[in-house]
Amino acid sequence: MFRGILITKGEAGYKAELQDIDDKVLPDGDVTVRVEWSTLNYKDGLALTGKSPVVRRFPMVPGIDFAGTVLASTHLKWKAGDKVILNGWGVGETHCGGLAEMARVKGEWLVPLPAAFTTRQAMAIGTAGYTAMLCVMALEKHGIKPEDGEVLVTGANGGVGSVAIAVLSKLGYTVVASTGRISEASHLESLGAARVMDRSELSSPGRAIGKEQWAGVIDSVGSHTLANACATTQYRGAVAACGLAGGMDFPATVAPFILRGVTLYGIDSVMAPLSLRLDAWRRLAADLDVAKLDGFTQEIGISQAIAMSERLLQGEVRGRVVVDVNRN
Ligand code: NDP
Repeated sequence: MFRGILITKGEAGYKAELQDIDDKVLPDGDVTVRVEWSTLNYKDGLALTGKSPVVRRFPMVPGIDFAGTVLASTHLKWKAGDKVILNGWGVGETHCGGLAEMARVKGEWLVPLPAAFTTRQAMAIGTAGYTAMLCVMALEKHGIKPEDGEVLVTGANGGVGSVAIAVLSKLGYTVVASTGRISEASHLESLGAARVMDRSELSSPGRAIGKEQWAGVIDSVGSHTLANACATTQYRGAVAACGLAGGMDFPATVAPFILRGVTLYGIDSVMAPLSLRLDAWRRLAADLDVAKLDGFTQEIGISQAIAMSERLLQGEVRGRVVVDVNRN
């Protein structure tokens, strides 16, 4: 038996509960991991509350990411004692996840813990931070340089947004942070934002094309915000879209793409190939200031995860939440 959150769906409806879970619930896999830390990402919020059909197999241990120590392995690459990170691959959705003391996964899904991080820091970064890095790498690959102009980050106080601001500013970019919580402006500036704007400037229906402002954009909000960001991106600039915190729709026109040569990159972290993950984690180790990371990370025990996920979905959580799965 091990302790964790289990989501069930039956006559009593959809239920997430902290309980003792039978080892038999663990799925097939060649590596068993003693989980040390997990986190709450937006998708975990959706899974824990049942607000979106994230979980597609029952019973399910939620938690789309974790960091811990290998307990047992029949995979050639891993041995007992190795420190590992897991992000995505359907874990916490179709394959039991990280909000528990134990997980069993496929060896090829795991990434070695970079020497720069503890398992707690790796989960303070979590899938949100690793996705932020994928977005930064997409803008860099496009050729956007600090001297090209301002980079807009939306959903600034969220997990993706906070890490994106910290990394971009360390790399020398001029970051504009868009937020619904202007009261957090000084915090966003301390992360590295040069300027903070109210998200209401971007969240209503806008023009098909507007004044050229951004060399690049990292958007975790979607909907009108993404449409307006595209419409105000500079000639041959790029937008990395990874989220839907403001809505899944994309009420835009093709004008920015065909008149300004704007490129829209879709960023997916769940099925990203291993080589890209390794690059992203290497880059996080080099380009994320851990003192800043610690400054926007709060810690909870596993018994607080369900209640905290409601607050996360309400947009009330600043930065990142790490979950100590070994304490209540
Ligand atoms: P968080 O909940 O930590 O942050 C989301 C932020 O978005 C909030 O803090 C808030 O920032 C802003 N926001 C919330 N609601 C609204 C709204 N109605 N309109 C406009 N802005 C809003 O989530 P994460 O950072 O973990 O994830 C952000 C998004 O990215 C989610 O949609 C998530 O599913 C997605 N994602 C996608 C991944 C991928 O692989 N493509 C991987 C990881 C995340 P503020 O208060 O500053 O306005």
